[in-house]
Amino acid sequence: MSVIVEPELLEKKLFIGGEWVDSESGEVFEVRSPGDGSLVGTVPKGTEADVQRAIEAATQAQKVLAAMSVRRRAELLWRAFEIAQRRAEGDAITLCRECGKTITEARSEVSHYNNPHYIEAAEGLKRFRGAVHPWTQSDSTDKRIVVTREPIGVVGIISPWNWPADIPNIAASHALAVGDAIVFKPASTTPFSVINLAEVYEEAGFPPGSVNVVTGPGTTVGAELVRNPGTNAIHFTGETATGEYLTQIAGVKRLLLELGGNGPLVVMDDANIDAAVEAAIVGCFYLAGQVCTASERVLVHRAVHDEYVEKLAARTGKLRVGNPLDEATDMGPLNNVANARKVQEHIDDARERGGEFVCGGTIEGLYCQPTIVDGVTSEFLMARDETFGPVAPIMTFGTIDEAIEIANETPYGLQGAAFTSSLRTAWLLGEGIKCGTVHINDTNNTWDQLAPFGGFKKSGLGRELTNYVMEELTEVKQITFDLSKVR
Ligand code: NAD
Repeated sequence: MSVIVEPELLEKKLFIGGEWVDSESGEVFEVRSPGDGSLVGTVPKGTEADVQRAIEAATQAQKVLAAMSVRRRAELLWRAFEIAQRRAEGDAITLCRECGKTITEARSEVSHYNNPHYIEAAEGLKRFRGAVHPWTQSDSTDKRIVVTREPIGVVGIISPWNWPADIPNIAASHALAVGDAIVFKPASTTPFSVINLAEVYEEAGFPPGSVNVVTGPGTTVGAELVRNPGTNAIHFTGETATGEYLTQIAGVKRLLLELGGNGPLVVMDDANIDAAVEAAIVGCFYLAGQVCTASERVLVHRAVHDEYVEKLAARTGKLRVGNPLDEATDMGPLNNVANARKVQEHIDDARERGGEFVCGGTIEGLYCQPTIVDGVTSEFLMARDETFGPVAPIMTFGTIDEAIEIANETPYGLQGAAFTSSLRTAWLLGEGIKCGTVHINDTNNTWDQLAPFGGFKKSGLGRELTNYVMEELTEVKQITFDLSKVR
């Protein structure tokens, strides 16, 4: 059944200093749905000057926000949650239209992942504490040290198109909670989900200028946000190559980088095979494989290889690919042409290297069929780099050491997963796989909103979610007291 969508054309503006304004460029750009190419709407093509205005507004508003009581900021976040819940269905439809994820996936992003951030930030703030050191290095018994945390200031939030509401709002909700002001720079194919966040914060009553949005190209708007000395921290989520570039232009400021992945899913010979098949279905094909935490390589023990591949192929054959707004659809299109080209390049490379295509392997427009490639080795592009498409590359191994070696041979280290019924094997794989998260007997493509999230190696810098992201977005301060000098 297709969702009924009013063909409303969205015509949105920049949000600077609490006002919805045009860009000083006077230009706008179009956003088209990857599902059918229809026009979703237009947003301004922002410029460096727009970013500078937004940073100035944020700098002023941050003082107001920081002076507010913790209780008041928590109340505003709870109000934002209620508003976001009320808008959830409309925001999910917009997200589905601009991103191309299925309506089921879009509803999950809005209601399961995004909206809880408001509450976690509000409640986490109340539990976010410093410390008093009653002991010091001094011989004096009159010395005390208080360690506290202060807002870091203005946070630039540069976000990707694959989780266009949830990802920027991890940083936004927690930044606002601790008293930072923010400037959003959304991905150009999915700006409306970030504009929806700004509308929620505006209606909730956050002080004008504490939330700003500048839409426009990454190379100008995004780069200015990073370069400008007025931003004190950058929360960037995107490709590793972009993140590496940002480290060169940021100067001395806090960088929280959530970058690419090439997650291994290890299937041992004692694994529950059916569960490991379901894990790969979610790991490889959720959001058409366009997830940083996707199972980008499926490492299968030689002893269970044939059974596993046969079952995975049968299950994959049942996936319905099509219109993302149709509730019966399991997998929608790729988000954009550049990503489709990359997926095609990885498929072509696998063909040239003699990979065996068990199913799929074709891309028409932005629609890629769910693909299983058997016989993949470490030289294949899809084994080395992030494919970001609905592809399950099957690699085989014979021992646990071999599995760990293959799992760790890419420059990435975001999320790994392993299936086994042995506690000892689970423990060794959990310790051996060099990733920020290792799921035992679960898919790569899941994360807990109350646990630290982030990558090893080229998958990123820092950790986010709950108190971990609050720590990244605050400065640690110590204040020392000498009690002998006071009354
Ligand atoms: P991207 O790097 O192309 O773009 C991300 C954002 O950066 C966009 O808003 C873009 O406009 C902006 N940008 C691009 N060039 C810039 C520049 N020179 N200066 C400043 N900003 C710039 O990434 P993408 O294609 O939007 O997203 C897909 C990538 O994101 C994948 O590699 C995926 O693994 C990664 N990702 C990582 C996580 C994570 O949590 N680790 C989550 C989701 C996505």
